[in-house]
Amino acid sequence: MSGDDVDLVVVGAGPVGLYAAYYAGFRGLTTAVVDSLPEPGGQVAALYPEKLIHDVAGLPGVRGRELVRALLQQARTYSPRWLLGESADQIARLDDGRIELHLRSGTSLTTRSVVLAAGIGTFKPRPLPVGAEFLGRGVDYFVTDPSSYAGHDVLVVGGGDSAVDWALTLQAIAKSVTLIHRRDRFTAHEASVAELHGSDALVRTPFVLHALSGDRSVDRAILRDTASGELHEIDCTRVVAALGFTADLGPLTRWGLQIVDRHIVVDSTMATGVPGVYAAGDVTEYPGKVRLISVGFGEAALAVNNAYVASDPSASLFPGHSTATV
Ligand SMILES: Cc1cc2nc3c(=O)[nH]c(=O)nc-3n(C[C@H](O)[C@H](O)[C@H](O)COP(=O)(O)OP(=O)(O)OC[C@H]3O[C@@H](n4cnc5c(N)ncnc54)[C@H](O)[C@@H]3O)c2cc1C
Repeated sequence: MSGDDVDLVVVGAGPVGLYAAYYAGFRGLTTAVVDSLPEPGGQVAALYPEKLIHDVAGLPGVRGRELVRALLQQARTYSPRWLLGESADQIARLDDGRIELHLRSGTSLTTRSVVLAAGIGTFKPRPLPVGAEFLGRGVDYFVTDPSSYAGHDVLVVGGGDSAVDWALTLQAIAKSVTLIHRRDRFTAHEASVAELHGSDALVRTPFVLHALSGDRSVDRAILRDTASGELHEIDCTRVVAALGFTADLGPLTRWGLQIVDRHIVVDSTMATGVPGVYAAGDVTEYPGKVRLISVGFGEAALAVNNAYVASDPSASLFPGHSTATV
């Protein structure tokens, strides 16, 4: 299938990609946003949606999912085309200089500019070693709607920030929450672990998931105490598998970009070495780079404005003030 035409494609719907999409729309560019994950929000939505973020300008203490919701609302102002669950795979140069961007699904987009806001790359949830066949039938890798866990016996598997955060969030909603981790020590933030131990969640370590059973969906879990080898059967109708993610720049490494330590080298205009391809956010590398959301927002504005001028030299680099719009 080929070739919807947009002025600019943003690869990555993390915080920086969402802001780049808003900015491109603000500049009057037609825009498509591509992300390999089914949900927007990048690391914030996938790894720490319930954490309070304190260092985004103007928002003293915003929960990850609230920040993503606000960025989405802002990005939607100019109605970009959303291609979620789609990976940017390859680019080809057309005779007129435009870029043909091929997605892994076989869809392609024709565009004048690409802004890579690809963060740490495509990240995939680490699968449950057992019970993965219940995915979507009680087993989730993402908690998109905490209220849907009401009345359920929930098993959370993992020892990092997202496992502990989900256990804390869901114990206020679910019938019961059991959290298991294969080690005695958690890698999650100390304060969250202390809160967990003071909460109603049942914490069992060093435990692993031995088996899940159920007819149409999960209804029992068998846990194994790795210290004693004993098996414990519990009621369990929902499982949150929070075993972390693997990240990979994957196909972007074949675009002819200069890549250093899994980051894309850009100049002060956020241009990569490939004409028409810009980058912003965690994925970029340059002297003095700091990987923070606030820095990525500035880079998104730089990338979009510079991409616009490169594709249309009659355009002004300075966008004007947003207060001047109605
Ligand atoms: C636990 C934790 C706590 C943090 N706390 C803070 C904090 O307090 N303050 C702060 O400023 N920062 C914090 N950060 C860092 C912050 O989350 C990142 O700086 C931010 O997410 C970077 O945003 P991004 O949009 O550049 O990339 P990401 O959030 O990584 O999003 C990139 C998106 O691109 C997609 N993608 C990648 N490659 C492709 C492809 N080929 N095709 C399609 N899609 C693709 C990915 O699926 C992903 O959704 C924290 C990070 C972690 C892990």
